Amino acid sequence: MEKEESVIKAIEEIASQLGEESVLVDDLDRSAYSYDASGMQAVPSAVIRPSTSDDVSFVVEVANKFGIPITPRGSGTSLVGGPLPVSGGFVVDMQKMNGIIDKDEENGLVRVEAGIKVRELNEIFSDRFMPINPDGAGFSTVGGLIAEDSASPLSIRYGTMGDLLYGVEVVLPNGEIILVESPGPPSRRSILNLLVGSEGTLGIFTSALLKLPRRPENRIAYKIELTDISDALILQEEIEKSGIGVSAFEVYHNYKELVEGAGTEAVAFIEISGTQECVEIWDSRLKSILDNMEFPFESVTEEKADDVWEGRKNLYEVAKVREEALKVVSLRVYPSLVRDAVQEADRT
Ligand SMILES: Cc1cc2nc3c(=O)[nH]c(=O)nc-3n(C[C@H](O)[C@H](O)[C@H](O)COP(=O)(O)OP(=O)(O)OC[C@H]3O[C@@H](n4cnc5c(N)ncnc54)[C@H](O)[C@@H]3O)c2cc1C
Repeated sequence: MEKEESVIKAIEEIASQLGEESVLVDDLDRSAYSYDASGMQAVPSAVIRPSTSDDVSFVVEVANKFGIPITPRGSGTSLVGGPLPVSGGFVVDMQKMNGIIDKDEENGLVRVEAGIKVRELNEIFSDRFMPINPDGAGFSTVGGLIAEDSASPLSIRYGTMGDLLYGVEVVLPNGEIILVESPGPPSRRSILNLLVGSEGTLGIFTSALLKLPRRPENRIAYKIELTDISDALILQEEIEKSGIGVSAFEVYHNYKELVEGAGTEAVAFIEISGTQECVEIWDSRLKSILDNMEFPFESVTEEKADDVWEGRKNLYEVAKVREEALKVVSLRVYPSLVRDAVQEADRT
């Protein structure tokens, strides 16, 4: 059977089960799904928009029958081409599966469909929030976050997506639907660990059980101007010595090249959060460190703190337009290695 014919037959079978409106085949629609935030492009033969786990399972079985590759997709905020159908075939857009299945207010547990977005998770509990918000605007879906084991600025305090995850429902490559939950036997946790960060290669996540942390009473974000990356290392050491509970610490090197009009070589974004009393103490300690080191800084409280992290998104955009790779180096590893890593990245 010719490939083209097999694609047409598969589309017909899927459309007859899921409904015509769930299968997009127009050039414009396919083109809209041919990008992510990386700037790369690969056009799918069709876009399938399932509404249930059974739909996803059916799509996987039909794709297997006709030998057609499938690529799951959340919001397409990936910076590395993850949701692009580089081998052709179908994109499975999970965004219609965005419901809340059940929630446990007392323990902050919530079971959601995989297409729900970070900003929607933030509305589930008044006193809890979703700390992993990699794109800064809350567009990433739970499925995408699990597939990437995503991190974001607050990962210093809250870990990565895998740390919030207590279970997933996943459609395996043979179409079987399984539920993997933890706590339970250690083997369950191992399977969960295997699935987290699998980048859509081991199955399609259809729902997830998450535990969301409590919103801190207070938070303050700082933007600090540095002479170069070595300042960040000294600053990190001073902060550590003074016992300040930092929840986020990101440093942008070559800032002058990324931001027009910026007069500084490197910038650090820091957030502290916790109880009112703690934050007040840490704020005054941090400000005195910054004054002593003569680093110019601005600080913003609670309501404006999110804007600082949303602004970070623009740096990725600028880097993309200029086709510059943004090199990300973690300050969580041995800080002494960061300088070497930055120098190495600059050489390559
Ligand atoms: C400005 C900006 C900053 C960013 N910063 C960070 C950062 O600091 N850290 C970080 O980790 N990421 C970062 N990202 C990348 C991105 O936001 C995350 O990887 C996010 O988790 C992707 O979610 P998504 O729903 O958009 O998934 P998509 O981009 O649609 O897909 C990402 C991957 O997940 C797979 N996938 C999607 N849904 C499912 C599913 N239901 N089942 C199985 N596989 C699935 C896809 O096949 C693909 O491989 C950033 C992105 C932007 C735009």
